[in-house]
Amino acid sequence: MSIRNILIFVGPPGAGKGSLSQKCVFELGWKQVSTGDLCRRHIQDRTEIGNEIDFAIKSGKLVSDNLITQMVAEWLAEQANKNIDSLILDGYPRTLKQAELFDQILKEKFPSLKVRLIKLQISDDLVTSRLLSRSLCSNKECQAVYSTRQESGLTPKQTNICDKCGAELSKRADDLVETVKERIKSYRFHEQALLQFYENNQVKIYQINAGQKLDQVFDDLKGLL
Ligand code: ADP
Repeated sequence: MSIRNILIFVGPPGAGKGSLSQKCVFELGWKQVSTGDLCRRHIQDRTEIGNEIDFAIKSGKLVSDNLITQMVAEWLAEQANKNIDSLILDGYPRTLKQAELFDQILKEKFPSLKVRLIKLQISDDLVTSRLLSRSLCSNKECQAVYSTRQESGLTPKQTNICDKCGAELSKRADDLVETVKERIKSYRFHEQALLQFYENNQVKIYQINAGQKLDQVFDDLKGLL
């Protein structure tokens, strides 16, 4: 395999991990995998795994550590022959157990990979407001992200229509008040142990202010690495 670097993006839901990843993919040619996207694809395709995780996702709970690790391991194996400079993990590992499992996989299968962690810092109030006002393009190939908040700079030109491909916008099934609360709570519950694990393992942790505009966050990331 010729993936050289792994960047783990850690931050609450709504911190902008997905948008930042997309920018890195388009502008720097990196590759990204989002475990949330992998989960939603399984649900949409009604696979056995999809049926098993449907309820957890809709209620904002985490999917089991083993199952999610299996998905990531399968995805990594599919990349085996590709030439990738940096691979972003968006939303994984997000529990201590996942970090331990993933560490084992790396040690056994990809010992030469360099791992770094990017921590996106942002307040719970700001992510809550971002998630509740978020809408996405319903076209699976596009998935552009919009917001109904004027100050975000992400409002679509035409209400509910994607600027890029003209498809209708929709809300994510888990961007609802109660589910958002649950997702943030779950993130904060696991955050400390996860960061501690990487600190103990001498993985470099870079902190970024994710409350800024996306372009600024991207510039900060480039400046740090
Ligand atoms: P969020 O930023 O709200 O967590 P994601 O798209 O990353 O959004 O994930 C959506 C859902 O997918 C999560 O609420 C959870 O149910 C599931 N999921 C994604 N990644 C993981 C993971 N690493 N471990 C467990 N569940 C996960």
